[in-house]
This record gives sequence, C-alpha cells and structure tokens, in this order.
Amino acid sequence: MTTATIENQYQFTTEITAKGKQQNSDGWAMTVGWKLPGSRYHLVLYGQDWETVEGFEVGHTATITIQQGNLKNNKEGKYSSDFFWDMESIEAGGEIVASEEVQAPPKPKPTPSEPRTGSPDQPPPNPAALGACHNHAVDFIVRGILPLPEGRELVGWVRELRDRFYRDINQAPLMPLHYCYQHNEERRQGKNGGWGHQMEPKDGSVEKQAGEPYAYCIEGREGWRVFDGGH
Ligand SMILES: [Zn+2]
Repeated sequence: MTTATIENQYQFTTEITAKGKQQNSDGWAMTVGWKLPGSRYHLVLYGQDWETVEGFEVGHTATITIQQGNLKNNKEGKYSSDFFWDMESIEAGGEIVASEEVQAPPKPKPTPSEPRTGSPDQPPPNPAALGACHNHAVDFIVRGILPLPEGRELVGWVRELRDRFYRDINQAPLMPLHYCYQHNEERRQGKNGGWGHQMEPKDGSVEKQAGEPYAYCIEGREGWRVFDGGH
C-alpha cells in the first residue's frame, strides 16, 4: 500500500449537512458534504466556540479552510482521516465542487437547458414515448380498465398513469427470456426442459422445513404449484 502525501491544509466549498452539540461536551459538531481525499466519510468538524459557526445552518453553503490538527487516538497518521482537522475559517457562499471531482476525472454535468425530470440522475424523457403513455393512460381510463378512483381528479390521475406507464413499462429494462413477471423472478431451465423458479414455502417462511417439497412456478403453468420431492 502506498502512503499518500497528506496536505496539511484544505479549502473547499460545501454544504452543511448536519450541525449540533457535541455528545460529550458543550461544543459544536458540524458535518459537511465534503470528504477528505481517500476518506469514505463526510468530514465532521468540531469546535468549542459557537460564535464561529453562528449563522451557518444545515443546507447552507460555506467555504471552509481546515488545518491539520492532532493525530487521533490509535492512528498512525497514514491517512488524512487519521487526524483531527481544525477549522481555520468559514465563510458563507462559494461554488461547490464535488469532492469526487477533486480526486477523479469530472463527471459530465447535465446542461441546464435539459427538461426537468424530477431527479438529476434521470435522463431526459423521450417525448414520443411519453405521448404514447399518455394516450394509453386515457384509453385505459375511458375503457374502464383503470377508472378514475373516487376522490381523485382526472388530470392528476391521467398524469399518474402516464408516469407509471412510462417509468415502469416504457423505460423498464428488458427482462431475460422465460422471466416470471408475476413473481418478479428469473426462471431457470430444469432437467425436463421446462423453465421455472422456486417459490417460497407456503407459510411464507424463508427456511424450508425438512421433508417439505420445493414448490416451483413453471412457465406456461402459472398459478400451479408443482411439487418436486426429488431434493
Ligand atoms: Zn412465478
């Protein structure tokens, strides 16, 4: 294992994710959305003087400078997280640079012109597919297959169905051949050439009782419980 050179000072802009009183003293503790290089955990800063962090609340963005402090108990000082880090300064605002980007090549950022999708991780919706899902939603309502539930207004119901069709059907990954959609399980081919997946014991317990036969859901015979005592 190589020992990385540890910088003794860092400055970063981050979001304050937690702030509160220290467990064993009257001082403050503050967790920020930034990690020391090589650390898996968000940095926690500690201090005694509450005035230092006055006005900095959860959700605020701050530019923080930290200085390497004492070595933690039972640590060798190989890693930056082996040390306490003293907060040299904290200022409101600044532009957040994701901590991963400090250590890894930057990820492509979505351009602001992309349509909103509800989550930053989702690709923009396909308008044609969305339109088709909307048509199916209306069709199912009109035909009485998915009627408007009591107490719901129509537009919201159409949108809900459209979104569900889009996310759960249109954009759902393709399942392998012989997949069981009823139980959401992949089937395996048995010695006799049929495709099936094992079902949970009748009583719902995960453990199979000694001597209890296995139950299988067999493709083309849905709803059957086929018992195989050969195990
Ligand atoms: Zn099944």
